[in-house]
This record gives sequence, structure tokens and C-alpha cells, in this order.
Amino acid sequence: MKIKHHPDLSMLMSCAAGSQPEAMAAVMASHLAVCPDCVRDVHEMEQIGAVLFEDLPAEDVDTKAAAMIMRGDTLTAEDNRTTADTARSPDADVPGPLRDLIGDRFENASWKWLAPGIWHIPIKLSDRAVGDLRLIKVAPGQHLPAHSHSGTELSLVLKGSYRDETGEYGVGDVADLDDDIEHAPVADADEGCICLIATEAPAKFKSRLARMIQPLTGL
Ligand SMILES: [Zn+2]
Repeated sequence: MKIKHHPDLSMLMSCAAGSQPEAMAAVMASHLAVCPDCVRDVHEMEQIGAVLFEDLPAEDVDTKAAAMIMRGDTLTAEDNRTTADTARSPDADVPGPLRDLIGDRFENASWKWLAPGIWHIPIKLSDRAVGDLRLIKVAPGQHLPAHSHSGTELSLVLKGSYRDETGEYGVGDVADLDDDIEHAPVADADEGCICLIATEAPAKFKSRLARMIQPLTGL
């Protein structure tokens, strides 16, 4: 897996400081699970932080990632928690941090229809959490409506790929978009795309139709 797009510096720093909102931390934990480069960067930032604040112990990055994933213990895929069997099957394709939520095979997860060619699994955050976390599955070649955001959108490709105005994103890539970027993603023509997406605030759609159905989709 060759990862081309990583979280930006401020996202890595807030990850190292353990100060991320729950939804962002879940996406970061899933990226760190596949990206040794960002694990190294976060580890270095933690060490710098420990020097600056000597009273605070330098946590091992694995501990930090584990803490984020443990925070994920408060997360539940709505109506879809699979506690019975989270053991990894030989053909598992769901990353470790998400397996307790949706099982270990994307094709067996309980996708809910959202719009033509688009399915999702909303992930319930803890009561205190702000923002939104969900998995989105997009059919091959499907276009998503053009939209921007009121805050940060952090998305991680888990399967397939997509492209938008900012580039092409494959498995392991993170798109770290702030609120001044408008984009209209298109899923790969052969494989489609599955992403884990954290947002701070609801999307702002350009089209009137997309805005009209927004209360129904929860996006
Ligand atoms: Zn990375």
C-alpha cells in the first residue's frame, strides 16, 4: 500500500496531544493502523511535547493509538454492533480499529441505502461528542453532490478509490479538508469506494435537491 495523502501537520499535532474530537480520533486511529510514516511523526511530536512539558510522561505511540481506539469503545455502529464474533477471518478487509463496530468484512456490514449508488453506516458517538462519524460506500463511477463544510472533514479511504478537485485517493489515503474547499468526489469506475468520514459540522451542498433531502440523510 503506497499512501500518498496524509493528515496535515495540525491534525498530527492534535493527535499527538490527544486533544482530538472523538470522530477525528477514530479516523486518525484507522490511518495510523496502516501508516508507519504518521506513526513515526506522531511519536516524535509526543516526545517533543514531553520535553516541553516535562511533568507529563512521554506516552508510547501504541499506547496513544490504543487510547484512541479505546475511546472508540464508546462508539457503536447504529443497530449494527457485532459483539459476538470480532475475530479476524482470513479474508477480513475491515481495519482492526473498526472491526468491533461493523464486523470484519465490508460486504457483510449492515449498509443503509442513502441515495442512488450511495450507502452508509452512521457510527454513534458518545453523548458528549460533537460532529459526525460514518462509513460511506459509493458505487463504481458514482458522483457525490458538490459540497463544502462548516468545519474540518477528515476522510480515510478503506477500499477502492475516488478522485475530486484536490487529487486521487486510494486505500490508506487521508483527505484533510478545511471549510474553504468545495469538492465533488467521484468513485473509481471499477471498484467504487468505501470511506470513513469524520465531520465537525453538516455539509453545505450546492444543489437545492441535495439540501432538500439533507435532513433525511443526516449528512
Ligand atoms: Zn500517514
